[in-house]
Amino acid sequence: MSSQPKVCQVTTWHETNPVPRSELIREVAGKDALYCALTDKVDKEVLDSAGPQLKCVATISVGYDHIDVEECRKRGIRVGFTPDVLTDATAELTLALLLATNRRLFEANKQVYNGGWKSWAPMWMCGQGLKGSRVGLLGFGRIGQEIAARIVPFKPTEITYTTRSLRTKEAAAVNARHVDFDEMLRESDFIVVCCALTPETKEIFNAAAFQKMKPNCILINTARGGVVDQKALYEALKTKRILAAGLDVTTPEPLPLDDPLLKLDNVVILPHIGSADIETRKEMSRITARNILAALAGDKMEAEVKL
Ligand code: NAP
Repeated sequence: MSSQPKVCQVTTWHETNPVPRSELIREVAGKDALYCALTDKVDKEVLDSAGPQLKCVATISVGYDHIDVEECRKRGIRVGFTPDVLTDATAELTLALLLATNRRLFEANKQVYNGGWKSWAPMWMCGQGLKGSRVGLLGFGRIGQEIAARIVPFKPTEITYTTRSLRTKEAAAVNARHVDFDEMLRESDFIVVCCALTPETKEIFNAAAFQKMKPNCILINTARGGVVDQKALYEALKTKRILAAGLDVTTPEPLPLDDPLLKLDNVVILPHIGSADIETRKEMSRITARNILAALAGDKMEAEVKL
């Protein structure tokens, strides 16, 4: 049986902003492993710069759409990621974002400070409750299932999910029904995006999709910004084609300060903090390091992407 390497020489980027691409390309040269984040695009150019000795790319995230996994597969490079550990934190944040959006928390909070709060009024700052609503989930994997479990206590009429494969047992636990994408668009009062970003899901929420949605629909996206055509979303929100959106992820990130979405009242935007609780992030960083040590030793990694 192989054993883990006793000493590793590590080159680290010490700043909180992402490593500049030129620096990444320069510093990855000759390394055996790359510890990366979703802010680092690991494509053919980076892999070429690393050289043929590169054995492992490990990302401190569950999403790996920033890594060219097909290129890694061809080169025999193993890819590590951090599923499961961040599931609860991300599901929790999704609920927080959903509730902030449907009950207009940020919009209402602003009124306290800008003088907009004149008195209690029957219909002022009313939102749309989850109780009695139809909630559709695009994606019903680890995070989607935990989001559904957290929505159940709010007493929706129905939870539906859209995936390529049926998840009958997991769906039964939350009484969820599998529907195709079109039915989800047509019937849902809330749509929660919790799928992987792939060529199939890229901009699946486009102008045509928004046309099919109910005018009271609220879209929540804690997956990846790329799942949504953001220009189409802006139009849908501005013209009240849909009621509101809550986004933890955007394109690009960070969203430029002059982005038109920031001018709308019916959108809540967070800076990609889905998994950002302290213990979760610490464990994600440890798993990423252990993934690398295992790969270098030729051992089973704690969490390896099936290539
Ligand atoms: P997962 O367990 O792999 O679940 C992914 C889900 O996406 C599966 O249910 C999968 O179902 C579905 N899916 C993939 N392609 C689809 C398609 N074409 N149509 C419909 N459904 C499709 O992953 P997870 O751990 O739940 O994480 C989900 C995603 O959340 C990650 O990929 C990541 O991008 C994002 N995320 C974001 C944050 C944040 O900070 N905001 C934190 C963690 C994760 P089928 O394969 O059956 O189609």
